[in-house]
Amino acid sequence: MTEETAYLARAVTGLSVAGSGLPTAYRRDQVRCARCATALRAGDRVTVLLRRGSEGWRPASFRCADDAPTELVSLTSVHGDDQALVAATLEPTGDFDPEEGFDPDALTLGGVEVREYSGVDSVGDGRE
Ligand SMILES: [Zn+2]
Repeated sequence: MTEETAYLARAVTGLSVAGSGLPTAYRRDQVRCARCATALRAGDRVTVLLRRGSEGWRPASFRCADDAPTELVSLTSVHGDDQALVAATLEPTGDFDPEEGFDPDALTLGGVEVREYSGVDSVGDGRE
């Protein structure tokens, strides 16, 4: 693991997959595989496409273990954005949302392994 990927892994570990910054379909326990629509739950090993916006890294889509892509390009054709592909385990830790308060049902990313990233000059998460 390079210094950059280690930093990225730290930046996204504990990231909520149910926050208000996400599409409605990904909130609470509605996390589904983008290919086969299997519901993904706590304890599942998943592959996550992340994009970095003004609020830092956010999950953009998920894949179940059976549909795990091997390369970033197989998930998206969009270039120019900061993107990362990581393997992670969904953990039932709950998460604090500034607007909605603590959500005990929120899942977060644990055991993060960076597969690939692109467009990343500095992989900080922007949350000082
Ligand atoms: Zn799937």
